[in-house]
Amino acid sequence: MVSQNDVDEILNRSRNAFLIFKNVPGKKRAELLRAIAAGIEGSAAKLLPVAMRETNLPEPRLAGEVARTCNQLRQFADMLVEGSWVEARIDTALPDRQPVPKPDIRKMMVPLGPVVVFGASNFPFAYSTAGVDTASALAAGCTVVLKGHPAHPETSNAVADVFSAALAQLGLPSDTFLHIQSPGFDVGRMLVQHPHTKAVGFTGSFSGGKALYDYAQQRKEPIPVFSEMGSINPVYLLPGALKSRSEQIAGQYAASVTLSVGQFCTNPGLLIAIKSQELDLFSAQLATAIGKTASAPMLHKGIAENYSKKRTEALSQKGVTLLGQGNGDADAGHGIPTLATVGGKDFLENPLLLDEVFGPYSLLVQAANQDELEMIAGSVAGQLTTSIIAEQSDWGQFGSLLQTVSEKAGRVIINGVPTGVEVCPSMHHGGPFPATTDARFSSVGIDAVKRFVRPLSFQNFPEQLLPEELKTDNPLGIWRLFNNQWKR
Ligand code: NAP
Repeated sequence: MVSQNDVDEILNRSRNAFLIFKNVPGKKRAELLRAIAAGIEGSAAKLLPVAMRETNLPEPRLAGEVARTCNQLRQFADMLVEGSWVEARIDTALPDRQPVPKPDIRKMMVPLGPVVVFGASNFPFAYSTAGVDTASALAAGCTVVLKGHPAHPETSNAVADVFSAALAQLGLPSDTFLHIQSPGFDVGRMLVQHPHTKAVGFTGSFSGGKALYDYAQQRKEPIPVFSEMGSINPVYLLPGALKSRSEQIAGQYAASVTLSVGQFCTNPGLLIAIKSQELDLFSAQLATAIGKTASAPMLHKGIAENYSKKRTEALSQKGVTLLGQGNGDADAGHGIPTLATVGGKDFLENPLLLDEVFGPYSLLVQAANQDELEMIAGSVAGQLTTSIIAEQSDWGQFGSLLQTVSEKAGRVIINGVPTGVEVCPSMHHGGPFPATTDARFSSVGIDAVKRFVRPLSFQNFPEQLLPEELKTDNPLGIWRLFNNQWKR
């Protein structure tokens, strides 16, 4: 068990390493990220069987996750080499300006300091030890203290060894990345509340992510906490689409609900449509598709028990009926694929039906009419994603729905399902509270780096004291103001 003294020592080491690492040039940090990616690929044959045993996830899924993890590390490396991410601004002096001269002012993003990252249970690679929070914090020039998720400790240790090797190979401080394995909420609290900690990255439950946020606000010096928490990712199914391709949508939706036993933050937990004969046919098709899906063991016992409890609670709510379920053995930790349904009025009267049931569960809400569907859209809280499945002919009638959902989601999808998060610069993976604690930032894609930097202005600095990025002849794609004219 890690004590307060241990946490003090760890954060002191991280802070000392930060004082060196923050001045390591971006190109060298890029080399570090590439060395970590190469190290993970080189160890994949050893890592995959361990991760399979610890998470119950199948090899193809984990191999895909390793590829994604290395890809995102390399995307940050490319970003560092290109360089414009620091948002350098150069305003040269205007000594003759009247009535007062204008000073030379330059600005760029600088790293915040040591970042505490909590590994996630459902992504042992892409959101854990070498996941996007760690990669983006290191890219920013921050040091990282990683609390490994207790569900996959051996995987986390093996990935941490890759970091040690990469740091040693490049002659960088070994404390740039520190790894802790110590389950217990107290340890998490101490890490978040340590004065040297300057930001936190988290993916997991609402209760966990909100607790970390609250710890940070109780500090003498509050710090940003980037928690990505629960989301039920509503999908609106509009009448034209229902009429023209019911069976195809049912198959696509069932596959999305049950993918990886529903253990994705983008799992579609809520499907909303207007009552009709076509909807009756569709719900039967969807129930059949979900019923045919084989269940599988969930990530760990705690998650399986939580799913079973939440599923039972959801199914016992007023007006909720079971439409279809797959086979499986809940006692053996399987997540039973489940489709339930409820009328729009009962849904609107019961906020419990908006809670995430983390696993292969989805609720079909049958609205009486368009007004009720729009009221449902208005009642839903912040989400990572919202999807609308529609034909061209639906838009004339449902344009306002698009406006409503755009207010509430980080990503709006037309004619697609929310699972499958592409790692690319245009991806926003975040959303208004309670999906995350800060709707302005993404935890996927190179913009994730923005969470761990702050702007710093340099006024009247002699050329030799300026960082490379702000030197007058820096060829990066930056904005400069020369003689009152902005130039790129
Ligand atoms: P979790 O309970 O949120 O835990 C994730 C990490 O946060 C763990 O390291 C945990 O500490 C720490 N933590 C949680 N609550 C804390 C608190 N109050 N104070 C300090 N640290 C705290 O997530 P989980 O273990 O992965 O799964 C639990 C449930 O979360 C699942 O059943 C599911 O409902 C939900 N979940 C949701 C998502 C999503 O993407 N929406 C993803 C994963 C899980 P310990 O090391 O002590 O456990």
